[in-house]
Amino acid sequence: MIDTTSSCTSAADGSLSADEARRRMREAISPLTGRETVAVRDALGRILAANVTATHDVPAHDNSAMDGYAVNFDSLAGDGETSLTVVGGAFAGKPFSGQVGKGLAVRIMTGAVLPAGADTVIMHEATRQDGNKVLVPAGQKRGQNIRRAGEDLACGGVALAAGKRIGPAELGLIASLGVVELIVKRRLRVAFFSTGDELVSLGTPLAPGQVYDSNRYTLYGLLTALGAEIIDMGVVPDQPAALEAALLEAAQNADAIITTGGVSVGDADFVKEVLARLGEVKFWKLAIKPGRPMAFGKVGNAWLFGLPGNPVAAMITFVEFARDALLRLAGLDPIPDFPLLSLPAGNDIHKQAGRRSYLRGAVAVVNGRWQVRTMAYQGSGILRSMSEANCLVVLPEDCAGVKAGEMVQIQLFEGLF
Ligand code: AMP
Ligand code: MG
Repeated sequence: MIDTTSSCTSAADGSLSADEARRRMREAISPLTGRETVAVRDALGRILAANVTATHDVPAHDNSAMDGYAVNFDSLAGDGETSLTVVGGAFAGKPFSGQVGKGLAVRIMTGAVLPAGADTVIMHEATRQDGNKVLVPAGQKRGQNIRRAGEDLACGGVALAAGKRIGPAELGLIASLGVVELIVKRRLRVAFFSTGDELVSLGTPLAPGQVYDSNRYTLYGLLTALGAEIIDMGVVPDQPAALEAALLEAAQNADAIITTGGVSVGDADFVKEVLARLGEVKFWKLAIKPGRPMAFGKVGNAWLFGLPGNPVAAMITFVEFARDALLRLAGLDPIPDFPLLSLPAGNDIHKQAGRRSYLRGAVAVVNGRWQVRTMAYQGSGILRSMSEANCLVVLPEDCAGVKAGEMVQIQLFEGLF
């Protein structure tokens, strides 16, 4: 079945705009519901399936942000220096048990609990010592240099919401609450295979006309970086029956299927046709370059992303479209839009209006200023340029070329895969 509700096609040939394609994918896909409990460190890269609630304040007590002296602000003279008597010390982990009355001070270290009676900390470097006295200059403010109980996390509040992906900061935050186990979404299972009669797996010598299957290696990297559980199904020949068998097997075992190749309009391109027979094609043509053909649909309960075969087009359609949809399926919420940054172009860029272009670029400092140059080779089979580039230059549909010095939008590879 082919979905023909093409209300937002952007080009005369019926291809869909990049934004509309992403919107339709997000709308079609509901997050997985499976969950499991894991130890804190094993949660790195996983997505929370339940809120993490703070069971105590962090920090638990008002404490000092500085090495210095804890005092009662009312002890200080409005102008001139005040001499206070030092009656003890408060250390991180070893609180001062007495009271800080008028005219008194307690030597305090960073992180030490603020003693009773004190409401202000004077930074050590601002003071002078004279025997058991400390001399405090004028100009202090009540409440200064104190970290308040609960200022990081308040008891009872949601420290991390369901849908959040656990990174290093979240691991630390969770540890600061004393939490030892977390409920996370089960990992997304993604099956993938390459299509093409010319493709050969590693370990076999190449015959004339054959090429090594590189897409399964880039996809292995992209999916692993995304935190998915992968099922590598190898190479499938350009035969409808073989394709059908592979898709049905993949749909049995995975939440999502990624294929590469066989989505254009050549005589050996069967992915769309087989998908339409077995399931549902939501769309298959995008107004983008590279990668105009990219099928999105469903076989059984599995979502299918039929990426183009050209190695660069396969990578770009993955990061621009499949990645976003897979994150939604995995339960990430909200899904952040990957930031577009603006930089001046270091060279003229040729483009015709109509499709959104993703060009490989290199961001670098030239004469003390950041700029982006596009790589000389933009052919969608030239994988080397993906390795040499560090960003994509994203040119909107209506852009009809860029002159050196004009601002362009870029997406850094860092963080994207
Ligand atoms: P297709 O999309 O099947 O028409 O393939 C387009 C181009 O990409 C052809 O030159 C293919 O040989 C090449 N190609 C397709 N799949 C792969 C792959 N898995 N690894 C390397 N090259 C591929
Ligand atoms: Mg092919």
